[in-house]
Amino acid sequence: MDLDIEAIKHPAIYARVSSEEQVQGTSLDDQVDKCLKQAAVYGWIIPPERIYIDDGYSGASLERPALSRLREDVRSGKVDLVMVYKLDRLSRNIKDTVNLVLEEWSKEHRVVFRSVTEDFNTNSPLGTLIFSILASFAHFERDVIKERTSNGRKRRFSEGRRAVGRPPYGYDPGEVNGTMKVNEQEAKVVRRMFEMYLTGMGFMQIARILNDEGIRTKSGEAWSEKTVRDVIVNRVYLGEVKYSGQYGPGSHEPIIKPEVFDAAQEIRRSKNRVGGRASGSPFLLGGMIYCRNCGSMLHTQPETVSRRRHKDGSVYYTVNRAYYQCGGRVKKGNSFCRAGYIDQKWLDAVIVQRLKERFLPEIRGGRYLEELEEEASRYVQGIRTKIQAVAEEIETKRRAVDRWISAFENGQLSPEKFGNRISELEKTIDQLSAEKEMLEKHLEDAKMRKINVTWAKEVANIIERWDLIPFQYQKQIVRCLIDCVTVWKPSQGKGKHKSQPEVEIDIVWNRSQETLPIGDLPIN
Ligand SMILES: [Zn+2]
Repeated sequence: MDLDIEAIKHPAIYARVSSEEQVQGTSLDDQVDKCLKQAAVYGWIIPPERIYIDDGYSGASLERPALSRLREDVRSGKVDLVMVYKLDRLSRNIKDTVNLVLEEWSKEHRVVFRSVTEDFNTNSPLGTLIFSILASFAHFERDVIKERTSNGRKRRFSEGRRAVGRPPYGYDPGEVNGTMKVNEQEAKVVRRMFEMYLTGMGFMQIARILNDEGIRTKSGEAWSEKTVRDVIVNRVYLGEVKYSGQYGPGSHEPIIKPEVFDAAQEIRRSKNRVGGRASGSPFLLGGMIYCRNCGSMLHTQPETVSRRRHKDGSVYYTVNRAYYQCGGRVKKGNSFCRAGYIDQKWLDAVIVQRLKERFLPEIRGGRYLEELEEEASRYVQGIRTKIQAVAEEIETKRRAVDRWISAFENGQLSPEKFGNRISELEKTIDQLSAEKEMLEKHLEDAKMRKINVTWAKEVANIIERWDLIPFQYQKQIVRCLIDCVTVWKPSQGKGKHKSQPEVEIDIVWNRSQETLPIGDLPIN
């Protein structure tokens, strides 16, 4: 902190409670006590006449008796530091606080302002100051808003009304604020969404079907994976309302039966377990795969469902499989790059297979570990040889020094010649010693490489259980083991998803051997 404790001669404390807070018990004694303790740490003694207390005054205005006295005392130089327990004690208004602290006190009268709980001084560099002050403002402005609204929300919640926001899809606002009535048309869609989900469709598929039918969300937008998910998990459809993380009985009519809702949640949990669609992008290689032809990152196109009609008018759905596609081609067209689509499931499976080939000893015949060990010991041996050579050279130079010294002692050399020669030799010896030291450090590092064998075994352990690992972890693991993947597949006409023998895949392995995110993996 840049606070110059010695320079402070007349520190003061300001404390305030509003009449509301008096009831709730943010006590003045507490505030003053905390400030006095902090002052004691700095060795300041604050006399009673420099403790300014506004008891029962709101922070909304600066018109407060003790604050006015404090400002007057600052003006006449009787105070050189103002301490508060928390910034919002001074004011609940951003503009007022900035004007008072920065303009009036800090700039005009060189008075330092300090908040005990927010740890900043107004004499620290301006950047830090503004940052911390603004951060605190954002913080206490939220508090003020919360203070104002939470009482009303609590009451609405206890009465079974919605505490916040507009009704979700399926409901319209009721007569009384916070009540809801069923919107029959939307409720039908909600029930259908649950039915579709129970038949095994994913959020994205459901969104696609609704969008194809021209059904829109409450805000008139197309359905997305997220908005469908929001419906499937929303307990409001069970007739419940939510307030600050907990649910309670609502006054509105339910749309979904508890057994349907529970079945949907069970499906969702099981999908999460096997690492399905629920965990972000379903693409194992999203963001790390590039077109070898043009260098663009490949885009990911998730699975889509098309709604079609048979000749007899009955509806059926077809699934378009997910694929990776050259981003350059997507943006700039065929003339820029003619890379073809690559089936996602196929490519992801190939990469997993390559991981297994690299890291699983039984597939590699144990070669990867052996190679690592060989490489490590070759490296260590190489450094040892170099250190030996340098040490020998240092020894040679030292002997030379000895020879020159005896030559000088025998009167065979002039002092100038001797001095020059010796300082030259000493310089070389210094350089060689530095080189030896560096090599020794490298040797230590190289010895650490032995750990890599352990690491590789750990990786093998994980890869062996690949199919048990939740998808979001699989993605992380792939990113630890692989730097990036480049692919090339010439564009082709029909039957593009049948087989992909002509795709060329290059994996750039991450050689830094990072620790895998296995700490919290649900496997042993
Ligand atoms: Zn390309």
